[in-house]
Amino acid sequence: MSFKIAIDAGHGLYTAGKRCLASLDSSETREWTLNSRIAEKLQNLLSNYDVEIIRVDDTTGATDVTLADRCAKANLSNVDLYLSIHHNAGANGTESGGLEVYRHSSCTENGETGLWQTAIYDSLINAGVPQGNRANPKKTADFQVLRNTKMSAILCEMGFMDSSVDTSVILTDKFANKAAQGLCNCLVAKASLAKSDAQSVSNTETQTVSQATKTINQTVETNTAANLPYAVYQVYTKANKWLSNVVDDSDYAGIKRRAIQGLYVNLSAGSVQYQVHTVGGKWLPWVTDRLDYAGVFGKNIDAVRVKLAHANNYSVQCRVAPIGSDYYPWVTDDNDYAGVLGKAIDRIQIRIVNK
Ligand SMILES: [Zn+2]
Repeated sequence: MSFKIAIDAGHGLYTAGKRCLASLDSSETREWTLNSRIAEKLQNLLSNYDVEIIRVDDTTGATDVTLADRCAKANLSNVDLYLSIHHNAGANGTESGGLEVYRHSSCTENGETGLWQTAIYDSLINAGVPQGNRANPKKTADFQVLRNTKMSAILCEMGFMDSSVDTSVILTDKFANKAAQGLCNCLVAKASLAKSDAQSVSNTETQTVSQATKTINQTVETNTAANLPYAVYQVYTKANKWLSNVVDDSDYAGIKRRAIQGLYVNLSAGSVQYQVHTVGGKWLPWVTDRLDYAGVFGKNIDAVRVKLAHANNYSVQCRVAPIGSDYYPWVTDDNDYAGVLGKAIDRIQIRIVNK
């Protein structure tokens, strides 16, 4: 039986308050974005080993899955370890910071959970995660995900989103790689994970999916390095279903020859607004982020407008393709709308670019 792990990227994209301090990061990068980046990198590293992984957060970030649901999912799946990834706050713009790793208050230092805590802390520090100035970096707390999970559960606060020392570090891809590597090293050693031979099994679907994940990761990395957020969007098609989320122009949202009837858009940081026009109809109301979707089920969309909710040093671009034909040109911010009235669209792309 292979080792099972639940990975929990804390919060969701829209969780109030959970973001980097604006004076240290003008994009106010969301905590979930940082948590999820490490979670994804860890998953990629672990894909070389014989281990079962479940993500208990919403990997699109759209929903902040309740803590009760996260625990329930891990408990029902009988995982061997629950690993929650977070970033800290409380430094209030000072130089204070560093890694903190938590176990539940009822667990002893030398019990199974305590041993995981020490192993994970040591491995993260060895991998280069900044130690900072924590007087007590291996703490106990009565956090719900530590209390209500049946297995050993550990929560890592990888660094402070409001520390003048930590913030610029935790925003980098390099840091996320170190954190993921530290977690992976610890799991491989402590759970004695064997290299999997699954890599050699050819499976077209798996390859396509991992290729898509790779492209998305590259987009996320490129934009994060440039300090730009990225767009996450999905469409509802005539065949009565919401398709998967797409990140920037790593792919398009839609299915060729199937009219689009609904649209959801959000950014990894910052806020976006959008509206759609329906064939033979009118412009529907503007929607902000995922507070609603734009569209009316049963009515085909022929044009889309997208704009940033607040002026910034980047722009949002959108382009659409009419059914059976090539894309119309990209439209930047709300200078124009994307589409031709009267022609239903089947593909849409939205991306963030430098001004
Ligand atoms: Zn958190």
